[in-house]
Order: sequence, then C-alpha cells, then structure tokens
Amino acid sequence: MLTAKNIYKSYDDLQVLSGVDFSVNAAKLSAIVGPSGAGKSTLLHILGTLDQSDSGTLIINNKNIGDFRGDELANFRNNTIGFIFQFHNLLPEFTAEENICIPAYIAKKNKREIGKRVEELLKVLGLSNRASHKPAQLSGGEQQRVAVARALMNDPAIVFADEPSGNLDSKNADELHHLFLNLRDELGQAFVIVTHNQELSAMADERHEMKDGKLIKL
Ligand code: ATP
Ligand code: MG
Repeated sequence: MLTAKNIYKSYDDLQVLSGVDFSVNAAKLSAIVGPSGAGKSTLLHILGTLDQSDSGTLIINNKNIGDFRGDELANFRNNTIGFIFQFHNLLPEFTAEENICIPAYIAKKNKREIGKRVEELLKVLGLSNRASHKPAQLSGGEQQRVAVARALMNDPAIVFADEPSGNLDSKNADELHHLFLNLRDELGQAFVIVTHNQELSAMADERHEMKDGKLIKL
C-alpha cells in the first residue's frame, strides 16, 4: 500500500533523514517513536505527500508520487490520505459536521454521498448529538474525534497521525487509541502514527524508532 525507499531530507546544512526505508499495509497500525528533533514529523509529512524529499522513492497504491504533475498530487492526497495532528486544526467558524465534510467538499463529491458518509462517521465516532456544535463548544476529546472523522471522510487508504493524543488527558487518549484499533480491525484502515505515548506504541502492529536519520524496526 505504501513503500518508501532511501528517503533523504535536509534543511540547509542539517541532515534530518538519511536513507529511510518504510512500508505499511492495510489493517496495520505502525508506530514511529524517537526523541524530539529526530525527524519524525519531517518523515510523516514526506510520507503523507505534504512535503517533498530531496531524494528517494515513495509509492502509494501503486502510484509513484514523483510522477504526479500539477494538481494531480493534491487530488491524489485528498482522496488517498488522511491527517490527524496534535492540535486538531479544526476551523473555528464551522460546525463539527462542516469540519468533517471539508475533504469531501474539496473532492467535489455529491451532496447525497456527503450526507450519508458524514452521518455514518458521526455515529461511529459518537458525535451524532454534537454535529452542529462549533469546536469551541466541544471537549478536547470530542474535538479530536471530529479531526479523526475529517481524516476518514474520503475513505483514505492511509491515515497519518502526528502525536494525536499528545494533547489529551489519559482517559480521552485511551478512548482515541481504542478507536484507532477498532477502525483498523473493522475497516481495515492503515495507520502511521508518530507518538510518545507508550500505551499506543505498545498496541501497534509494528514499532519503528527514528534514530540518526534512519528508521530502525523495534
Ligand atoms: P518532535 O518530537 O519534537 O516533534 P520531530 O522528531 O518531529 O520532533 P522534526 O519536526 O521532524 O522532529 O524536526 C527535525 C529537525 O529538523 C529539527 O532539528 C528541526 O528543527 C528541523 N526542522 C524541521 N522543520 C524545519 C524547517 N521547515 N526548516 C528548518 N529546519 C526544520
Ligand atoms: Mg514532531
């Protein structure tokens, strides 16, 4: 589903990634751990096609990312990849439901399809009675579940999450982690998650440590 080979990235004279190999398949949750500044977020952004590597190859769903031209990459990303960040990045003026729908609006899906999907996601994530609330009217755990629903809206092949529970108390973090496991088991969702949370990394199917610019399988 995703294979990255020999990924290099530096910022000016700082070499951050020096030959990273990584792959993930459907129904797998892969955790990436490592110290602050090791390059975890840099790698996640490259794997998620938000940022470009200096060299190396990235293949997602049999497509070589380097072959895309113009708008093709943004369209591919919006349809294939979901992102969850430490701070949920919800739009404050939009309701929970509207925030969840954004990727589908961008993909110009039809109204009926969007309505059906958002209803399904609100239900799965226990947000049905919070649909018309704005982010400021939601708890931290609810806000993060809205961000998860938004990431899942276009039924992505892979969801990337960067410290998704870093900003949650232990009860909400625990709920979020179990939600990831359910989505993996029930939908076959693939996850690549950067985390400092030991419970989450212990639950993962695979663990990798970012060290000296490389990923080491633990
Ligand atoms: P943390 O656990 O603190 O989030 P991380 O492993 O995610 O750390 P990165 O954010 O990938 O680390 O950063 C790796 C290194 O690259 C750091 O030294 C950082 O300062 C540097 N860096 C990241 N982004 C940029 C950028 N846009 N320009 C210059 N340097 C950057
Ligand atoms: Mg980071």
